[in-house]
Amino acid sequence: MSEVFKGSFTQQEPIPEDGIEAAVAVMRHGRLHRYNTVAGEVAETALLEQEFAAQVGAKYCLAVASGGYAMATALRAVGVKPGDKVLTNTFTLAPVPGAIAAVGAIPIFVGVTDQLVIDLGDLAAKVGQADVLLLSHMRGHLADMDALMAICDGAGVTVIEDCAHTMGASWRGVASGTQGKVGCYSCQTYKHVNSGEGGLFVTDDAEVAARAIMLSGSYMLYERHAAGPPKEAFAQIRYETPNISGRMDNLRAAILRPQLRKLDAQRDRWNERYYAVEKGLRDTPGLTVIDRPAQEVIVGSSIQFLLKDWSEEAVTEALKRCAARGVELKWFGGAEPVGFTSRYDSWRYVDAPRMPASDAILAGIVDMRVPLTFSVEDCASIARIIKGEVSAVYQAGD
Ligand SMILES: *Cc1c(COP(=O)(O)O)cnc(C)c1O
Repeated sequence: MSEVFKGSFTQQEPIPEDGIEAAVAVMRHGRLHRYNTVAGEVAETALLEQEFAAQVGAKYCLAVASGGYAMATALRAVGVKPGDKVLTNTFTLAPVPGAIAAVGAIPIFVGVTDQLVIDLGDLAAKVGQADVLLLSHMRGHLADMDALMAICDGAGVTVIEDCAHTMGASWRGVASGTQGKVGCYSCQTYKHVNSGEGGLFVTDDAEVAARAIMLSGSYMLYERHAAGPPKEAFAQIRYETPNISGRMDNLRAAILRPQLRKLDAQRDRWNERYYAVEKGLRDTPGLTVIDRPAQEVIVGSSIQFLLKDWSEEAVTEALKRCAARGVELKWFGGAEPVGFTSRYDSWRYVDAPRMPASDAILAGIVDMRVPLTFSVEDCASIARIIKGEVSAVYQAGD
């Protein structure tokens, strides 16, 4: 009998008990809105912001309704206007170009390398076309951040980091999200902490922080932000900045605070699983493992590999055979967007030229979630199944 995997690729762990207790306490007192506090009380949301800022080493933090909202707010806060062009990754998910479209700006896609990071050669060639790069650390792959920042700093381009997949990760010891002007994180169920929906925004820039706080819907209550800039930063900004409501509430913040305290331990658990899959996939004929740079500390919540130069039929066949044995893989090369997965040419509101070099790489990217509800042995079993089916299809095509 061939091995079949029975686990669910979309099942998260439960909310930790201390998170549940904190959430129940908020529901019992009823003050769910972040500015609904009694004398002397610091809201859960404000505490979350303070703790997350300290955790990543940022001066200011703002909690918001989603990761996508954090990115659109960052674009507005650094001054992106309708009609402006914004550089971004070809290989990313729909909320990234969506955030650019939300402010009426126009995405310019920068290519992807076979390490699954933004192509720095293509970035250097296009950097003169925009004032802002919305950099997506897609699936947790960090580009050479020293080289990237040198290119952007040299051209006066502001970097906003999409850290939906790098919360808890770092580049040469620096927390992901603190190298650019703004770091944006998601607390949505499928990311590294889970409040259903939610986002975090960090920056060291007092003006950008003040604008973001006003944008998020602080009214004139911005002094209740424990991780906000001093009130002088709001002197003009409070008159000039529209309120585009997208606050986080105390219930979500209460759920998130205990999870953030466990983030490093969770990262280690994710990586144990990630590297178990990676090890099992090595030396599979026709399959390329993505080697991770030594400067990167990853959070292995998903894994990618390449089926380089495979035909569409062969990729589809391999994925079908893995699915039949319980292993759910996603393909970034598909012409039609499916589930959470889409390709730059499916975002038809953008008039993007074809990118043949990136197309060739996207055509081979296969992606798999690694939920913490899997055991390390589950991960080894999954890798055996993938290795068996991928090599069978590859060898049949030889
Ligand atoms: C999930 C995700 C986001 C946005 O997060 P939401 O909280 O769902 O808005 C942004 N970028 C990437 C790459 C994501 O996967």
